Amino acid sequence: MTDPSPLPCRCGVCCEAFRVEATPADALREPRIAELGAPVYCQDDGEAGEVVAYVLNRGGGPGGPCLFLERDALGRGVCTIYATRPDACRRFDCAGAGAGGRQLLTLGYAIPRE
Ligand code: SF4
Repeated sequence: MTDPSPLPCRCGVCCEAFRVEATPADALREPRIAELGAPVYCQDDGEAGEVVAYVLNRGGGPGGPCLFLERDALGRGVCTIYATRPDACRRFDCAGAGAGGRQLLTLGYAIPRE
């Protein structure tokens, strides 16, 4: 297991609740993304083309936690590829610091903050 996330909450909810997509560039940095993720293909005249993304949720869709999320002995979320995690995870502003109402936009969810 790699170093745990330094994020303050360590709840892991964002890694469980959202659809997590990685890019081919992410897969070059972390080969396990291509090995374990569900590939998303570009559709070209009905033919499956190149891979444009990898869905990382268990089961290949929303509702399953990320393949790389584990829990430590205290139940805290641990990203097992933290050092090489996808860019979407790096940009995700879990704590909302300085993000105004945009904290969930990087994963495709725009939820207004109160
Ligand atoms: S790769 Fe790591 S940070 Fe990203 S959703 Fe999965 S467990 Fe969370």
